Amino acid sequence: MPVGPGVSVGLLDHLASALAKVFRLSCHVQEKSAMDAGFALDSRRNQYHATQILRRIRDIEPEETVRAIGITRLDLFVPILTFVFGEAELGGRCAVVSLQRLDERFYGLPAREELLRERLIKEAVHELGHTFGLRHCEDWRCVMTSSHAVDRLDIKAQEFCRECRRMVR
Ligand SMILES: [Zn+2]
Ligand SMILES: [Zn+2]
Repeated sequence: MPVGPGVSVGLLDHLASALAKVFRLSCHVQEKSAMDAGFALDSRRNQYHATQILRRIRDIEPEETVRAIGITRLDLFVPILTFVFGEAELGGRCAVVSLQRLDERFYGLPAREELLRERLIKEAVHELGHTFGLRHCEDWRCVMTSSHAVDRLDIKAQEFCRECRRMVR
């Protein structure tokens, strides 16, 4: 799990243990591989191109890495959307998630650490689900349902529904 600047290691340790449980894989934080994502900045939008960061993670991660997910504070986008919480390679190895819009402070509200942790887990499980070939799920409770706003993120579970679970070993 490569880490971007300004991301708390405590938050990531918590995420790593949650991911290990969900995916039944050993999962660790790799602070060393923190990346300067300046190359992905779109200065007109003042946001970072998620797909470019994804490619860079794929290029730097050794082949034996089963899955890699980058966590950043930077605001991410893809050209067809105003923002994304994260992005992943469908059926690939790599994913990226931004904390920016998962944080209540982004909406001018007081910080809520527990809520941020929950949202981060849901978003990370969701993006990693895509790396296992999962597409969006119609079950609104399933972590693979698509959510473009935090209120939708907050009502879904952090687990896969039975159908989706089958795809993730
Ligand atoms: Zn998705
Ligand atoms: Zn599902």
